[in-house]
Amino acid sequence: MLETDQTRLLVDAGLGKKETLRRLAAVGREVDRLDGIVISHEHGDHIGSLAQVLGQWRTTVYLNEATHTEVMRILPETSHKRLDRVEHIRAGQRFIVGDIEVSPVSIPHDAKDPLGFTFRSNGTKVAIMTDLGYLTELVKFHVRGSDCLVLESNHDLEMLKVGPYPWEVKQRVMSKTGHLSNLATSEFLGDTDGFDAYARYVVLAHLSDYSLSEKLDIQGYHVTGLYAAFHVAEHFGYHTGQVIYITKLKRAQDLRFTRLPVVKKEGAR
Ligand SMILES: [Zn+2]
Repeated sequence: MLETDQTRLLVDAGLGKKETLRRLAAVGREVDRLDGIVISHEHGDHIGSLAQVLGQWRTTVYLNEATHTEVMRILPETSHKRLDRVEHIRAGQRFIVGDIEVSPVSIPHDAKDPLGFTFRSNGTKVAIMTDLGYLTELVKFHVRGSDCLVLESNHDLEMLKVGPYPWEVKQRVMSKTGHLSNLATSEFLGDTDGFDAYARYVVLAHLSDYSLSEKLDIQGYHVTGLYAAFHVAEHFGYHTGQVIYITKLKRAQDLRFTRLPVVKKEGAR
């Protein structure tokens, strides 16, 4: 959820009403109204509880036409009436909700017309880019100048290969329209040509559950996927001195922002 003094926007609705409320409460937020829900794409972990969430907060849903069609196809007909306030948006066309300016950006992912977003308000810019097979030049361009960057860091390639999923799923995740690996994210964050390192906050998001707890031998180290994600964050934090957070998507766990220990800047290279 993004919040200014005037406006509250929810990005996607995949967690369920109870879980959404619980997580908002965990960061000290009691939300009586929403000014809109922005939808990135139609996959279940992004729209699965849209009807439920709309039952809690009747509000406008912002999504593009192709995604809208898919959402109506996927959600049960009984919940269609809850989507009575819909605004169609388009990649490349900015729109305003209250005092937040939203820029939808096309991303490569295996959905009908998936979007990432940047948000601007009162001189602050936040970028949310998850569910993308690779980092396009367009995405790199749009995340520049972000004060806060929420970026996918989905899986460790080696762990994915030996992990529990069927081969088709692995193929899908690794494809150009799948998900960003920890390595791809780490390389981008460390690439001074691609990333401006302006962001004060970087959140690694959309981490795979299984690869977080799975313990495997990777290049001689017995590590978990969570460790791999920490490694990305630590590496980045070490070089830039920035504060890195990692979010966990596990429903069963408390939402906890994991703050890494302060890294000494001396000798950082
Ligand atoms: Zn997706």
